Amino acid sequence: MWNKIEDGLPGEIGPYLVFTEDNFTVWAFFNSKKQFCESNRYVMNVTHWMPLPSPPTADKGGPRQQTTNTASTPVCPKCGNAMAVLSGNHGFSGKVCLFCE
Ligand SMILES: [Zn+2]
Repeated sequence: MWNKIEDGLPGEIGPYLVFTEDNFTVWAFFNSKKQFCESNRYVMNVTHWMPLPSPPTADKGGPRQQTTNTASTPVCPKCGNAMAVLSGNHGFSGKVCLFCE
């Protein structure tokens, strides 16, 4: 959603999309001097600005969510399920996947 420059500048420093009198839409960084910059130069004649859209999420083809596997739970490299940790009495100790075995 575009905001008119006359109605105010962004409240926070950061990247924005800006629209200029020349009908260009450009990516610009709003700096602490309250100026829009684009690769070391100021973007002049800005008439509108808007926040950047949110980054893509996993279900929209974006980066995958970090899986939160705790270090104490080994994961089967074949199926990705948690593996059972065996120790012990039967002369066997190690990790076994109950889904693959
Ligand atoms: Zn498995």
